[in-house]
Amino acid sequence: MSGPRPVRAPRGTDLTAKGWPQEAALRMIQNNLDPEVAEHPDELVVYGGSGKAARSWDAFDGIVRSLTDLERDETLLVQSGKPVGVFRTHEWAPRVLIANSNLVPQWATWEEFRRLESLGLTMFGQMTAGSWIYIGTQGILQGTYETFAAVAEKRFGGTLAGTITLTAGLGGMGGAQPLAVTMNGGVAICVECDPSRIERRVEHRYCDVRAGSLDEALRLAEEAKAARRPLSIALLGNAADVVPELLRRGAPIDVVTDQTSAHDPLAYLPRGVAFEDMAAERDKDPAAFIEKARASMAAHVEAMVGFQDAGAEVFDYGNSIRGEAQLAGYARAFDFPGFVPAYIRPLFCEGKGPFRWAALSGDPRDIARTDRAILDLFPDNEPLARWIRMAGERVRFQGLPSRICWLGYGERDRAGEVFNDLVARGEISAPIVLGRDHLDCGSVASPYRETEGMADGSDAIADWPLLNAMLNVSSGATWVSIHHGGGVGIGRSIHAGQVCVADGTPLAAEKLQRVLTNDPGTGVMRHVDAGYARAEEVAAERGVRIPMR
Ligand code: NAD
Repeated sequence: MSGPRPVRAPRGTDLTAKGWPQEAALRMIQNNLDPEVAEHPDELVVYGGSGKAARSWDAFDGIVRSLTDLERDETLLVQSGKPVGVFRTHEWAPRVLIANSNLVPQWATWEEFRRLESLGLTMFGQMTAGSWIYIGTQGILQGTYETFAAVAEKRFGGTLAGTITLTAGLGGMGGAQPLAVTMNGGVAICVECDPSRIERRVEHRYCDVRAGSLDEALRLAEEAKAARRPLSIALLGNAADVVPELLRRGAPIDVVTDQTSAHDPLAYLPRGVAFEDMAAERDKDPAAFIEKARASMAAHVEAMVGFQDAGAEVFDYGNSIRGEAQLAGYARAFDFPGFVPAYIRPLFCEGKGPFRWAALSGDPRDIARTDRAILDLFPDNEPLARWIRMAGERVRFQGLPSRICWLGYGERDRAGEVFNDLVARGEISAPIVLGRDHLDCGSVASPYRETEGMADGSDAIADWPLLNAMLNVSSGATWVSIHHGGGVGIGRSIHAGQVCVADGTPLAAEKLQRVLTNDPGTGVMRHVDAGYARAEEVAAERGVRIPMR
């Protein structure tokens, strides 16, 4: 039996496997477990609660061994983080096929999953943990930036300059909010009850200043708003107190959202409990704690609805706070929308989603070169250019240097083609892997998040991610995965991923052209089928063939 040890992907241009596609999978699983990237590498946990890259250390070693020996016409099969077979296929087939956490629907509960996991039969793969294309907090930052850019586009003429956003939670995901708001030109007040989280965000330059009091936070915010100057302000406090108080005062707030850990009522600080006493209170009487937390969330959500009534843009940021407030008896909890139907779905209709790539060389200059290529490719896309420039200046790499940017149908394939050319010409020192989150336009069924409120009511139809995966296999992706439960938990989602390698060969060029066209194409297709007019336009303009349109 092997055990925990520090893992780091090899760098440079020398192969440790029998070809770059195999080498890419090998470096990316190791990169997911790099202590700089993973949250709990000793437990093989990459991110998202218990999202793992391999089922056990023995399974990890087995995957590494198999990939090292794998021929260019063979395919490794991985079942929930364990290598289970190698088969002869062909050069166009994926080198790895992955199925993680899947259960027959009637058995798809956390209880059954945990039982099977304790028997060593499965693992939780989250989205990009078990499919080996997680790139650290950069992925979260850009999604949050993109959401706030969509808010700006919808309500404020394309910029948040001269607006104040009120939010809470500066944790792992929520900590990206202050920087995402200022990157869009706005002012953010971020309420957080844990002083260590505030210190960390300010230290890492995700947040600009810490206010000493509510009065100071409001004064700083109003001054910056008047000057149309970006500024992010952290405020120590309980959101269930602060948000209603700001509403009572008639504070000039333009946007309200929340990223406290509301999905778990044991992780939301109730009113009247000091942060220092939170753990003790929770352990003393969990049921009473949950009741208090839910009542506090009801007060918090009621104030959010109050801001919406007063004209602010208000949305749920994927943490189930509306559901918890409703459980506490607050009737208007679902008066404001979730972020996907509100801002992200129009992007999905264009085949846009969290496209990303990593430099297998480990050389940051390779990413700098891809950044320049993106700026040259899309000179008219100002928000994209702003993101790429700011990311180049402000994003610290974790593990292999990487970049995320949301690109759509007709864009991703162009990026793939150019990157492959740059590798072929030696302007990039080693191959680039290109992949995406499973939270993408055509690759997920998740009725509480990505497919909430579909126009035709098809929220829970899970044929779409399966078709997406099969099409990516047929199109030449290097590895393809089908998962269950990522993002929102067991029983609540089915989703698929793909990763391709630009190794500079003509074969890679052909595969990239097909995969990076077809993969976002399934997003356009899915949204045409659901009746979205924008998707129909995109399909017509860009030539996506939909038989029944
Ligand atoms: P986290 O647990 O790291 O951070 C949550 C923060 O909220 C903590 O710092 C905590 O101190 C703070 N907090 C708790 N109660 C509070 C209160 N009453 N007032 C002020 N602060 C309070 O979680 P995270 O990774 O940042 O995720 C935040 C939420 O977003 C989770 O519910 C998560 O499930 C959800 N989520 C959103 C998306 C998305 O795409 N938007 C994706 C995954 C998860």
